[in-house]
Amino acid sequence: THFGYTEVPVEEKVEKVAGVFHSVAAKYDIMNDLMSGGVHRLWKKYTIECSAVRPGSKVLDIAGGTGDLTLAFSKLVGSEGQVVLADINSSMLNVGRDRLIDKGVGAQVQYCQANAECLPFPDDYFDCLTIAFGLRNVTDKDAALRSFLRVLKPGGRVLVLEFSKPSNPLLSKVYDTYSFKALPFMGKLITDDADSYRYLAESIRMHPDQETLRGMMDDAGFVNTKYDNLTGGIVALHRGVKP
Ligand code: SAM
Repeated sequence: THFGYTEVPVEEKVEKVAGVFHSVAAKYDIMNDLMSGGVHRLWKKYTIECSAVRPGSKVLDIAGGTGDLTLAFSKLVGSEGQVVLADINSSMLNVGRDRLIDKGVGAQVQYCQANAECLPFPDDYFDCLTIAFGLRNVTDKDAALRSFLRVLKPGGRVLVLEFSKPSNPLLSKVYDTYSFKALPFMGKLITDDADSYRYLAESIRMHPDQETLRGMMDDAGFVNTKYDNLTGGIVALHRGVKP
């Protein structure tokens, strides 16, 4: 199936929430490196290692943004495989598409504007679905998890890479100060947009912790759910399998 470059209408409210990314799209990659000190590359590398994606696999990278994971997957799936980079936000998707085309990715990568809550793909289609630093922005996370389950093949894997709750109280305090003080400051300096980065810090604080998210994945119908804390739980990689 070729999903081409489809535009799926999204609810106004959802579009507004995700609209924060219109203003950060152009500087997104540089901000990512700066804010995480480059460590987001290691978190993503670990995600790829856990994905079991191989030649011929079909992969959906939802909330894929500028396409870091998609790029890595495109090298693993080969010409027989398929990677769909999907995002609700057209600016992020455009930056991602231009970037990946510049890097020479082939026809195995497709681009699709889509809302994680109601994915426009067939049932039982993908071998693997990833969402990296995207789920916390999704309004109805339970609907999104159910939608992920639907489009995966039985035995297919979901991988959720997301900010989480640091396990150590001291680290938690340092990190809180960093995200509420330093992030908006850096955001203002580099993108002249402190608000978007304030939103980022708030969305991180509001996001369900490790056990809660795991429970939500169980409730959605995934099995063998588990998570690994990365960098002391600042980030967690949750995994599950469609039965
Ligand atoms: N996955 C990329 C990465 O790790 O670098 C991008 C992460 S970026 C922080 C979050 C992305 O989630 C944005 O591109 C935003 O447009 C997208 N997003 C937010 N809400 C969404 C939704 N409901 N459905 C799909 N994508 C969404």
